[in-house]
Amino acid sequence: MTRIADLLAKGRTWSFEFFPPKTPEGQQSFDRAVDELAALEPSFVSITYGAGGSARDTTYDLVVRVNEEQGFPAMPHLTCVGHSRDELVDLLASYREHGVDNVLALAGDPPKDGSEPGGDFVYATELVALAREVGDLAVGVAAFPEVHPRSPDRATDRRFLAAKLEAADFGMTQFFWDATHYRTMVEELAALGCTTPVVPGVMPFVSVAGARRMSAMNNTHIPDALQERMDEVADDPEATRRLGVEVATGLIEELLELDVPGIHLYAMNRAESIQEIYAALGLHT
Ligand code: FAD
Repeated sequence: MTRIADLLAKGRTWSFEFFPPKTPEGQQSFDRAVDELAALEPSFVSITYGAGGSARDTTYDLVVRVNEEQGFPAMPHLTCVGHSRDELVDLLASYREHGVDNVLALAGDPPKDGSEPGGDFVYATELVALAREVGDLAVGVAAFPEVHPRSPDRATDRRFLAAKLEAADFGMTQFFWDATHYRTMVEELAALGCTTPVVPGVMPFVSVAGARRMSAMNNTHIPDALQERMDEVADDPEATRRLGVEVATGLIEELLELDVPGIHLYAMNRAESIQEIYAALGLHT
């Protein structure tokens, strides 16, 4: 049994995030990336969950398989919006039966067309409580250093985030481009009495358009200097990827100075950028 909460209690974790592929070629990339990155001996990996019905079964199958085949735990992301309570109980119980010890409990986004999501849950804290009821799982939750896009204001965001983290075992953040956002969030949480470890998420981008789109969706500010460097490489995929590695490496160096509890790298089903970041940091040599 490997609970991420216990790993964090022992020392800094290094983890990678994957997403469920949609095609046979995508599955090959996933398998290749997991095998190549296994050589870096991550503390754990996580696999995202397709909101709105897409790729949900794939997440389940991949988590169970990676958990069985690899020497590190695979944690499923799980969203509760749009699910019935019974569905979530079945899924969580099934994870437990298959030796999965961790879950990232998320609300998920409401449908983009503005329709009612249905289901029995609205907020991630409700899923945290359900996971506690169903079984002995270590439970992680999401944190937004630059404030969740649906939060009415910063103080409200931090109040709900602190309460959610108190109920969970650890947090994992949305990506950001300036370590100050992470540091400020941790200070604000501490001022509310919350000291649950929050692992920063770092994204080595591979596409300028993609990085800008995801930043806009998530309320993530791109500093002017980075915008300019992105402009310079936007038409060159390899130069873009190399810039993504450079930016992520610099960010991780700053985060390590802040004594973070772990580093969670968005591998995006590719090994190359992560391997280069490890090499640049002198890790696993
Ligand atoms: P919550 O914690 O419920 O917060 C959502 C909003 O509700 C916030 O504004 C919060 O302040 C507010 N709120 C919370 N509690 C209350 C309350 N009691 N009353 C009023 N307001 C309240 N999405 C996916 O679909 N699949 C994934 O795999 C996935 N992985 C993610 C991984 C990470 C690390 C992160 C940071 C996000 C991920 N997401 C994923 C996105 C996430 O599902 C969305 O951002 C979603 O909109 C919010 O999820 P949450 O768990 O933060 O929600």
